[in-house]
Amino acid sequence: MEGDVHPGADNGTGGLRVAIVGAGPSGFYSALTLLGHGAVARVDMFDRLPTPYGLVRFGVAPDHPKIKSVIKVYERGVEAAGDKFRFFGNVEVGRDVTMADLGSRYHAVVLTYGAQSDRRLGIPGEDLPGVYAAREFVAWYNGHPDFRDKEFNLSGRRAMVVGVGNVAIDVARMLLRSPAELAVTDVAPYAEEALVASGVEEVAVVARRGPLQTKATPVELREFSRMADADLVVTEEDLTLDPVSAAIVEAGEAPRQNLKNIEVMRELGLRAPRPGRKVVRLFFHRSPVELMGDGRLEAVRLRLNSLERTPEGWLKVKPTDDTEVVPCHALFRAIGYLVEPLEGVPFDSRHHRIPHAEGQVLSEPGGDPVPGLFVAGWAKRGPSGVIGTNKPDAVETVTTLLAAAAAGGLPEPVAPDVAELLRDRGVRPVSFDQWKRLDALEVTAGEGQGRPRVKFTAVSEMLAALSESAPSPA
Ligand code: NAP
Repeated sequence: MEGDVHPGADNGTGGLRVAIVGAGPSGFYSALTLLGHGAVARVDMFDRLPTPYGLVRFGVAPDHPKIKSVIKVYERGVEAAGDKFRFFGNVEVGRDVTMADLGSRYHAVVLTYGAQSDRRLGIPGEDLPGVYAAREFVAWYNGHPDFRDKEFNLSGRRAMVVGVGNVAIDVARMLLRSPAELAVTDVAPYAEEALVASGVEEVAVVARRGPLQTKATPVELREFSRMADADLVVTEEDLTLDPVSAAIVEAGEAPRQNLKNIEVMRELGLRAPRPGRKVVRLFFHRSPVELMGDGRLEAVRLRLNSLERTPEGWLKVKPTDDTEVVPCHALFRAIGYLVEPLEGVPFDSRHHRIPHAEGQVLSEPGGDPVPGLFVAGWAKRGPSGVIGTNKPDAVETVTTLLAAAAAGGLPEPVAPDVAELLRDRGVRPVSFDQWKRLDALEVTAGEGQGRPRVKFTAVSEMLAALSESAPSPA
């Protein structure tokens, strides 16, 4: 490892010192907004992995390199801040440092740790081998160290994805990408091998409501037109609006994006699939009610739904008596992520997020402000929105933080620099410079293969690469 990981203690300007917990998009937007403000002397960002960028690295699909280019903005921003910014990778809050440790060392702590879990279907058979969380699959193909040893049964002809948000679309696409398409991405090498060997020829994407309620965005749906080996298929019957949805369209109340989705699905999905190609089939108005199999998933019982409008205007699923059984050996639930509580931080377990007012953490929903504690991103608003949504979200939180500072409402730090504490505890943080070395090694490894990078997928490999002999991830 490099000599002194984090040289220099507090810079003694007397300005604000802020800790950010979580190095994903909301963490970086919070950091950049803070660093642009004269009152802020230092921003320290903590992440339990040695690598920054959170969901940009581990959530965005490998075949979406353009979306990942936002990393350049984050990198340039924090580098321009010089020693006002420090990255403490490989440091887990709750394990290596506690919230109390941070509370006594910073004027403010901003929680941007995102969502680490996911919703379950809550139906019989959900624990059968072959039933997976899309979140785990996404993390696996993106080389997240916690998921690299996970195994997915891709031997069957049909896989099913439940939910029709952008995560479901990513999973369906990645399951059917051709070897040549995968070969130019930064997909994890072990995942590429498994995907190339996969027997999956059909991905059934199953939505509980109708086509007008599709959560995925039109841009993502349209990508199915650019698959080398696969076509999108949906029946006219499935695209026919139920009476409630038809009335919404008739009344001009349907959001433009939803209408655009239908247009894209009609344009791409009603064509006959080209012979010999794999297919993504969209099914609407269906909910899995039972996952069946002898020791592993073999089939899914789907119940057909109609829709009814609640007095609040929400379109609710109304179960019918009709069911159908669809053979399938792998099912990915892509029905939403969940924020987990963090020890020492209030949590709204009804809405699965941290209670707050404009980013100021509250003791409970509607309760008192917790001085010095703030939240941004998914931990604040739940798992919704695209990467850019986190920018205004972070700006709101930082504005609240700075207003609290101006009003004298932040606690004074009393304990010495966190770097000392980590040293005393034998924790070896990875600095931003060290991450840049890992980054360079990954990019170099990718160059020979025509890929943007080849990722390190194990923390031990990353730490070894930072020591004397630095092997490349390839
Ligand atoms: P999402 O957009 O909230 O979609 C969740 C899907 O699951 C919806 O179709 C929802 O249907 C369905 N669902 C929820 N509970 C269900 C249940 N019990 N049974 C059956 N279906 C159920 O969530 P996501 O796809 O996980 O995405 C999370 C966020 O990341 C979104 O904001 C998304 O846009 C973003 N993202 C963006 C990109 C990109 O920009 N390329 C890529 C990935 C993710 P209902 O509508 O009926 O609730």
